[in-house]
Amino acid sequence: MYGADWCSDCQRAKAFLEAHHIDFIYKNIELDATHVRRVEEINQGKRIIPTFEILGQTYTNPDNAELARILGINPFGRVLFYGADWCPDCRRAKTYLNDHHVHYQFIDVDSFDWATREVERINKGKRIIPTILVDGTPFSNPDNATLQQVLQIEQEQKPAHVYDVVIVGGGAAGLTTAIYTQREKLSSLILERKNIGGNAFLTEKIENYPGFMNISGPDLMQKMADQATAYGATIKLGVDVAGIRCQDGVFQVETNMGLFEGHAVVLAVGSTYQRLHIPGEEALIGAGIHFCATCDGPFYRDKEILIVGGGNSALEEGLYLTEFTDKVSFVVRKPAFSASPTYVEKLAERSNVATYMNTTSVAFLANDQGLFETLKVRDNETGEETLLEADGVFIFIGLTPNTAFLEGILERDERGFIVTKDGTVETSMRGVFAAGDCRQGATAQIAAATGEGVLASFGVKEYLKRAW
Ligand SMILES: Cc1cc2nc3c(=O)[nH]c(=O)nc-3n(C[C@H](O)[C@H](O)[C@H](O)COP(=O)(O)OP(=O)(O)OC[C@H]3O[C@@H](n4cnc5c(N)ncnc54)[C@H](O)[C@@H]3O)c2cc1C
Repeated sequence: MYGADWCSDCQRAKAFLEAHHIDFIYKNIELDATHVRRVEEINQGKRIIPTFEILGQTYTNPDNAELARILGINPFGRVLFYGADWCPDCRRAKTYLNDHHVHYQFIDVDSFDWATREVERINKGKRIIPTILVDGTPFSNPDNATLQQVLQIEQEQKPAHVYDVVIVGGGAAGLTTAIYTQREKLSSLILERKNIGGNAFLTEKIENYPGFMNISGPDLMQKMADQATAYGATIKLGVDVAGIRCQDGVFQVETNMGLFEGHAVVLAVGSTYQRLHIPGEEALIGAGIHFCATCDGPFYRDKEILIVGGGNSALEEGLYLTEFTDKVSFVVRKPAFSASPTYVEKLAERSNVATYMNTTSVAFLANDQGLFETLKVRDNETGEETLLEADGVFIFIGLTPNTAFLEGILERDERGFIVTKDGTVETSMRGVFAAGDCRQGATAQIAAATGEGVLASFGVKEYLKRAW
């Protein structure tokens, strides 16, 4: 902000920024001739103050409403929203608030250091976004059901519509199913508990999806979601499915956001990162322990991190993290990486990588502020225990299918994967299909998940033809 103490508009703008905790640098034009020249340059020779430079744009004497618009301030709202553009849960929560016409003030933690500090203060040292304050009460990454409850947003009552197919999961398999079913003119509803894109959304670089030499996970998945909605699919985010039952040929899908109905169901619920289940892990999740490089990696720019795991996911995500962190050290239980040779070769070319092979993670230890400080590890050969220091840890050790809610509803194998009939994607419950990573025998690749989405759509089409 370029201004002068005697200028009433400068006083007005300054007071507005301070009242809304906006971090800014005040450049008094009376104290420095270079500030005067900059003001003249911005205003084509005129000396108009206050003049602002905000994220690379210039503004001449904006009124408070204009400042509020530029900075995302809502002076009348009950809701203060700390988040970042790259954070998927922030997008999910924003979509929910926008869809329900809730006004909120968005504070980008990347733009203001004080905002990150405030998030840490609220969350007792943890960097959790979104952190949302409603009437001053903080909520750390609240799900949509919590937002609905605290903001008293009306719940969708009895389902207004019976869809031809309800698809559970908005990853590669679910989105592909919807593209195909919609093109068959079957009304399709996708219920997604988090954000669109599933696991593929979490990875920065995809190099093996046919047709794309190199595309980011978010870009690829957004394209799939755009295609599904362009054909008319409905996508509801933040809807966590808890059960399915069939009544008079109609499937009732129970969720945290009410009941949805369909004539057929496709389960495309994928899988979730496994935890190490060692001391200290639970308490430090979000306080230095993470499971998603694209979601939390940017917090560790120019810092040192550890990665636990040596498979494809660990190396793929590790390669991405080497691009902007100072050092990435891999802690691998086996004597060698189990990832594909392409990743291992690429990693060997990076100069900021260290490896601890044949090493078991034993415990996470915290500092006085309750933040991760060291990982205790044990050498599998010598039994010697050492402490590895780092700013943060990312754990990539495998996945578990998201099928617990199907217990007693349909057949799953001992690891929880949904069992389908040989050569089909039909489950043990007629009219319910399974596609992608949650299915027994899945290849856990995006291209495979999309292929299974196609199969599921064909299954739905045939089932509905026979059922009607
Ligand atoms: C870090 C990482 C990197 C990867 N890199 C690659 C790669 O480069 N190339 C490649 O081909 N594959 C890659 N994969 C694998 C690929 O991401 C998966 O094979 C693919 O995402 C599977 O798609 P899906 O739709 O079956 O499941 P998912 O992508 O897991 O999607 C399932 C969706 O269902 C939702 N869901 C789950 N339970 C519920 C519920 N109860 N209610 C509502 N919604 C629910 C989840 O939130 C999720 O969005 C990677 C995986 C990981 C973890």
